[in-house]
Amino acid sequence: MVPVVEELRRLVAFPTVSNRPLTELAAHLATRAEEAGFRVERFEPGEAGKCTVIASIGPSEGDGAGLVVSGHMDVVPTEGQPWSSDPFVVTERDGKLFGRGTADMKGFLAAVCLAVARIPRDAFRRELVLVWTHDEEVGCLGSAQLAARWQGRPLPRACWIGEPTGLRVLRMHPGHVGAELEVVGQAAHSSRPDLGRNAIVAASRVVAQAAALGAELAASPVDDLPEMDHPVVAFNVAEIQGGVALNVVPDHCRIKLGYRPLPGRDPHVPWEELRRRVGGEVDGCPVHGRILRVTPSMLTPAGTALEGLLRTHADDPRLGAATFATDGGNLAKMGMQPLIFGPGAIEVAHKADEFVPAADLVRAVDIAEDVIRRACC
Ligand SMILES: [Zn+2]
Repeated sequence: MVPVVEELRRLVAFPTVSNRPLTELAAHLATRAEEAGFRVERFEPGEAGKCTVIASIGPSEGDGAGLVVSGHMDVVPTEGQPWSSDPFVVTERDGKLFGRGTADMKGFLAAVCLAVARIPRDAFRRELVLVWTHDEEVGCLGSAQLAARWQGRPLPRACWIGEPTGLRVLRMHPGHVGAELEVVGQAAHSSRPDLGRNAIVAASRVVAQAAALGAELAASPVDDLPEMDHPVVAFNVAEIQGGVALNVVPDHCRIKLGYRPLPGRDPHVPWEELRRRVGGEVDGCPVHGRILRVTPSMLTPAGTALEGLLRTHADDPRLGAATFATDGGNLAKMGMQPLIFGPGAIEVAHKADEFVPAADLVRAVDIAEDVIRRACC
């Protein structure tokens, strides 16, 4: 069997669904790196079964030279999806390698493992650092921990994240903000609604305000992000919860919403605008709000040296934007300039029968070897 397919088979067999331990996969990748002569550090967030693997080779000057290659080790769940074959056993049909994570993004991890093994350890003149993260799929949690708590040396500035892009270079993506609004009413027997304050009815006005803001944002494209097909803030009223019984005036209603701040923009502005419009009280019901999570956007300047290297291998020479968030926003906070470029298509990720084209995976090994040699040797 082709070595990279063999490696992909091993990686996919670890069922590293987000929120589950991934120590075995991390140990495997650490061993692969050590076999290729890397020094391995494990960055642990303090949660059992979680770690980010940081493997480096070559002289570390702390001057930002060299290259970071990054990917996440976790995958999305498969429950309830109509898979044609076992999602954790790589199956080849019609030149496609099916399995959970083949595109997003264990194919890239396998390609990098093979590529680094081809390069003699004494060939490195600049540092290469592999950063394999956890819990990317549930809000880029591993990279957020790393960005918040990394006390080590500065890592190289150039950063390649191998998310599936169909081998096109993407230099930006929106972030993701999750927030919650809680409307507090007053309970009463439903026969005497005049004695209560209905939190659901008040919340319906809050939802209307949020929807109106979402519609305004959708109609307000910016003109300085030409790589984005739809350069607007995507806004979603996502969950609503309230009420206990038919004969009770509800005293609580909770609304969760999310939006995707544009690359390089202050992620808090839409939330602050919504809070201003809703105010502290609706129909006599206090409204409390809180941000649940901020996944930062990414915006890397055009024209970096790494961009030049990756674009020589791109199927589509145009620079693009991802619609989805990645670890890149957090890694940028560490001083990196991430670019996203990898085999497989985001359109097949997260679904049943996810696959990576076998030919693209084989090519990805050659691409990774070439890019790493040019950046670090
Ligand atoms: Zn991914």
